[in-house]
Amino acid sequence: MTKVTEFINQAQGKTLFSIEIIPPLKGQNINELFQSIEPLMEFKPQFVDVTYHREELIDKIGDNGQIERIPIRKRPGTVGICARLMERFHVDAVPHVICGGFTKDETEDVLFDLHYLGIDNVLVLRGDPEKSAGIFKAKAGGHTYASQLVSQVSDMNRGVLLHAETEAYPTDFCIGVAGYPEKHLDAVSFDEDYAHLKHKVDLGADYIVTQMFFDNQKYFRFVDQCRANGITVPIIPGLKPLATKKQLSVLARIFHLEFPEELVKSAEKCVSDREVRELGVDWGVHQCKELIAYGVPLLHFYTMGKSDNVAKIASRVF
Ligand code: FAD
Repeated sequence: MTKVTEFINQAQGKTLFSIEIIPPLKGQNINELFQSIEPLMEFKPQFVDVTYHREELIDKIGDNGQIERIPIRKRPGTVGICARLMERFHVDAVPHVICGGFTKDETEDVLFDLHYLGIDNVLVLRGDPEKSAGIFKAKAGGHTYASQLVSQVSDMNRGVLLHAETEAYPTDFCIGVAGYPEKHLDAVSFDEDYAHLKHKVDLGADYIVTQMFFDNQKYFRFVDQCRANGITVPIIPGLKPLATKKQLSVLARIFHLEFPEELVKSAEKCVSDREVRELGVDWGVHQCKELIAYGVPLLHFYTMGKSDNVAKIASRVF
């Protein structure tokens, strides 16, 4: 399997294309997910990221009639989906590996599953907080920050396991981490956020993928600040086309981002979400062309279960 950094090095300045998909809700048909991304395969994505989701606490009435909170993983299957993706589309799969909901030992086991599948890329993340808790809490025996998980993967790459007394056969994971052009919600300041990002790179991260942004100036400033803070690894822009008017508030709240005034005004003039979707495509094309001219290594799209708008952008950009 090719490493993300190798793809970038081999591209010789050409801008590459990749996508992120989300596992279906438990009980849904995996083929629907594959059909939804099929139109994107024409544009030959270099790799497909597959997100990982922790369990959520659900209230259920137990046998004794009392309400019980039970942990349910609503979107399981990241490792299995990666295996099927590679087999069906002959594309490299990049699983996300998260701290939330896992002990270090459970994480080690997941990393071995990935290693045995021949997967050499992982995107290492802290993970979202459990929904009912609101703030992130590590599982007992698990990691609190993505940097600690980066350390664990780097250790495995050196043949160091959690409990083994002798050196193990080393893995060879290329490690990606997340970066936030508009600052991570929990960070007290940009400076602190850059310092934490630098720490992840110092511990072994090979590249960064950004949170989605709709204003390229935010990405350009982020790259400048990363470089000023000594972060030299590739910084891959994460993009999502605006698809509905509601997303103006929902995405802003969930992902802690600001929409450019021009995009907001144009979206507000739209009379239907179909028009907003078209506007999102035009805006996405404009963003991509500017990012390519700037020299980004790769354009990474969050598909969020729909691919028609990403396919339209790709057909006008690549
Ligand atoms: P961290 O790097 O650990 O940072 C989290 C916060 O802690 C930041 O504010 C940082 O500044 C701060 N911090 C870091 N180290 C320290 C320290 N030592 N002391 C004090 N503060 C510190 N979530 C999922 O659940 N599943 C996914 O598959 C998933 N995929 C994603 C993909 C991308 C590209 C992005 C951008 C996000 C993704 N997320 C996913 C969301 C992500 O898990 C959340 O944004 C999470 O809140 C932070 O993750 P992180 O890896 O950036 O965390």
